[in-house]
Amino acid sequence: MSRNDHGQSIEKPLTRLVRSGRDHGITGPFVNPPVVHASTVLFENSDDLLSGQQRYTYGRRGTPTIEALEGAITELEGAEGSVLCPSGLSAVSTALLTVLRSGDHLLMADNVYDPARNFASNMLKRLGVETTFFDPRIGAAIAELFKPNTRAVYLESPGSLTFEISDIPAIAAVAHARDAFVLADNTWATPYFFKPLEHGADLAILAGTKYLCGHSDVMIGTVAANARAYKMLRSTHGDMGLCVGPDDIYLTLRGIRTMGVRLDRQMESALTVARWLQGRTEVARVLHPGLPTDPGHAVWKRDMTGSSGLFGIVTNDWSLDKVKAFLDGLRLFGLGYSWGGYESLAIIGRPTRTAVPWTVEDRIIRLQIGLEDTSDLIADLEASFARVSNLS
Ligand SMILES: *Cc1c(COP(=O)(O)O)cnc(C)c1O
Repeated sequence: MSRNDHGQSIEKPLTRLVRSGRDHGITGPFVNPPVVHASTVLFENSDDLLSGQQRYTYGRRGTPTIEALEGAITELEGAEGSVLCPSGLSAVSTALLTVLRSGDHLLMADNVYDPARNFASNMLKRLGVETTFFDPRIGAAIAELFKPNTRAVYLESPGSLTFEISDIPAIAAVAHARDAFVLADNTWATPYFFKPLEHGADLAILAGTKYLCGHSDVMIGTVAANARAYKMLRSTHGDMGLCVGPDDIYLTLRGIRTMGVRLDRQMESALTVARWLQGRTEVARVLHPGLPTDPGHAVWKRDMTGSSGLFGIVTNDWSLDKVKAFLDGLRLFGLGYSWGGYESLAIIGRPTRTAVPWTVEDRIIRLQIGLEDTSDLIADLEASFARVSNLS
């Protein structure tokens, strides 16, 4: 790969997605890496067995398939190294356990993925880690929340249900001045649109289940770390015995090759649908940092190069029955959790908040815009709005 004087890749993002993880000398003449199903790895003789020098020693400890995806993530995130986890949530918990010890204090953004919040409130509490939730828009004022034992700040920008953007560089500057680690869940933007490690994070988490895989058929997670955190990450990941099956790794790598064109399209389609929704009288607010009217737009524009296909709307004064009727009437939007696939989806969002109460009374409808024709999607939404208006 071409590199500049600082050792950074100078290739453009689409090229990087196609080439990353492919320079490991493991694919031979084939474009794609082998799918190695392995537990036992054989050694030539007992000297090799004892030396610890052989490149591959045991299935869980690395195979050409694992290395190909780890290499791709490391390059895409601009990291020192990365690990693979069996789900996005497992990547979240692995990253947190990498930096936290009993007696530590954790600062967690109020808008993070709910199961990440539960991990802090349940498991980390049990392990003697105290968590304070903070307003995701806090910026440098996070300094006031630091305690002498604050060891890490965990955030997700934008939050994948309410879509507030955090000022990661400002928060990281405060954290690093106090020797704390910054962990960022980058699932929404992916490294195609944002590289948390280049904006001050020490660990970047991806639910590969979403855009990396892109086809709603794999559960996988990744954590990428800078030089400060990578050794700790690798050791925690090894201690916990985490590994991912080779077929899922292969599908994720395959997904990465087309992620740029999918995301470019999903960005445009989501913005088209979001702008259309802004013009509807039924909609009070559209939650999408890519829209100039969004409170997070300026920071989003400063830090990110694009927006993905997931956003929310807040309806005007609908009852839950109306929200349900709207969703049940949709033909092209499936009702289902997760996102990042090629198909459009919708859910009803009910944010859990403790630091900043979610003041909008109405329920959020979250939309994932897939690869369908946007005029079909808009027609589907329009027909559902019409059905709901005939309701009462
Ligand atoms: C889905 C998701 C996760 C968890 O990923 P799984 O693969 O479902 O465990 C973590 N963070 C965010 C932001 C997500 O959307």
